[in-house]
Amino acid sequence: MAEVVLEVQDLKVEFDTYGGVIKAVRGVSFNAYKGKTLAIVGESGCGKSVSVQAVMGLIPVPPGRVTSGIVKLRGNNILGLSHSEMNKVRGKEIGMIFQDPMTSLNPTMTVGKQITETLSVHEGIGRGREAKKRAIDLLEKVHIPEAANRVRHYPFQFSGGMRQRVMIAMAIACKPSILIADEPTTALDVTIQAQILHLLKDLQRENEMSLILITHDLGVVAQMADEVNVMYAGRIIEFGPVDDIYYRSQHPYTIGLRAAMPSSEEGAKRKLQPIEGSPPDLFHPPIGCGYFDRCPYAMKICESNEPEPFLVGNNHYSRCWLHHQRSQTKLADFIKQDTKIYKNNEIMS
Ligand code: SF4
Repeated sequence: MAEVVLEVQDLKVEFDTYGGVIKAVRGVSFNAYKGKTLAIVGESGCGKSVSVQAVMGLIPVPPGRVTSGIVKLRGNNILGLSHSEMNKVRGKEIGMIFQDPMTSLNPTMTVGKQITETLSVHEGIGRGREAKKRAIDLLEKVHIPEAANRVRHYPFQFSGGMRQRVMIAMAIACKPSILIADEPTTALDVTIQAQILHLLKDLQRENEMSLILITHDLGVVAQMADEVNVMYAGRIIEFGPVDDIYYRSQHPYTIGLRAAMPSSEEGAKRKLQPIEGSPPDLFHPPIGCGYFDRCPYAMKICESNEPEPFLVGNNHYSRCWLHHQRSQTKLADFIKQDTKIYKNNEIMS
């Protein structure tokens, strides 16, 4: 088993709003391993980005707060660190890239200056010739053409894909042990998306980084991940190796996500099936299963009792009552039903 770099236990995050307290993350636990990619997948508002923002100490307080949990980076709890201590961890130990690099890059500074700033803060390198050389090397590493010239350019002089490469260069400048990528390709067109994912994979291999990839796109997950957390309503509802999650999903929500996703297989004409309904109100989280209102297989117990994660495969867990031994008949129905749903929609006539 690879070395654990990041360990998150029972993380809970809330936000005060005029409408009340939103319980955005409701007890999330996961590990990130050296050289491996963990994808966190789910629809908007499921708590995936808030979870990693809490890990990075980026929850704005107020209105937000982490109400419980442990976040260990190489065995040391970083959740209680002060603002300045956390600033040293961010950028040095943990790098982060976001969906829209334009909001993270400073439009009034050249990209070279922004990279050297990172090196100066975390490695004490001055802003002279050595820093400039490092900035050029980093731009070359992320395949920015004519890096020696481009280092003097401002963010607006780069395309969206190139700006994302600059962000990646900044994020890896200090060789972090973890890179968190929050929807890094959502704003990019498909060909650029493929190039950025490829680049992230190469850099991860080269630096043996742990990569945490936040996405709503199961196609990106299949391409990139070793392990997957599927989140719904502030909880991880299914976790496991990527092939299990992708080809042997066990939770009705994950199965719904797969059915809602276009197929990339050549000639596939499967009809997309949206998941009906909306996620529950996190001002008043359900006492039972969060997916109850939308689940086609819901049982009486699901409304009033929240299921614990059941082991359904090798290191594969699903938080669903269908896996309880007394639900065997129901589970068989569910698998049959699932097959039927897919068969019915495989080919559109
Ligand atoms: Fe559906 Fe019940 Fe499973 Fe929740 S616990 S996903 S409601 S069957």
